[in-house]
Amino acid sequence: MAQDTDQQASGGVLPVDGEGFVIDTEDCEARETAYRERGTSRPITVVGNPVLHKECKEVTAFDDDLAKLVDDMFASQRTAQGVGLAANQIGVDLKVFVYDCMDDEGVRHVGVVCNPVLRELPADRRRLDDSGEGCLSVPTAYAPLARPDYAEVSGQDEKGNPIKVRGGGYFARCLQHETDHLYGYLYIDRLSKRERRDALRQMEEGTPRYPVVPND
Ligand SMILES: [Zn+2]
Repeated sequence: MAQDTDQQASGGVLPVDGEGFVIDTEDCEARETAYRERGTSRPITVVGNPVLHKECKEVTAFDDDLAKLVDDMFASQRTAQGVGLAANQIGVDLKVFVYDCMDDEGVRHVGVVCNPVLRELPADRRRLDDSGEGCLSVPTAYAPLARPDYAEVSGQDEKGNPIKVRGGGYFARCLQHETDHLYGYLYIDRLSKRERRDALRQMEEGTPRYPVVPND
């Protein structure tokens, strides 16, 4: 099993469960550490930066450059103490997100998704959860936002293998939030005008705890 762990720690293939979803809860500490120690932390783009407000490009090359990007994303996520990070949040126009997120049961999930597509849920699986949400690209602001409490995302891992990821509660929120980023949407775009204004005011009044890319 040590060999499996080594392979995973170096960005190998995750095991899958009986329904074909990746098991992203094993060896989280080792896998996250391996990524971030290879990577370099980069500053975070914030609302108003054009890269955050348009759909990112599909990943087509699953090469060393992509592996380096993923490493840098894990490093940046750690510096900013985020639970998820999309590539455009470090200024890269590619459909990739990473996550290091606890679900509502306190179980940690670590993984990478390229070219994510969110599954449209049937009505009987669609239960809204109106917890609070924040975003590293809208520093220091928080707002309640109703989202389904379960999510399934399909895409590819950083090697190009097809994968499916699913989660509930806060982790479901994370999967939806990060997928939104790669299509050019921030969570504040889903708020009412008034709530959005309020979030932007919170951001104006706060000071980010991590390096950000200044807007022109
Ligand atoms: Zn975000």
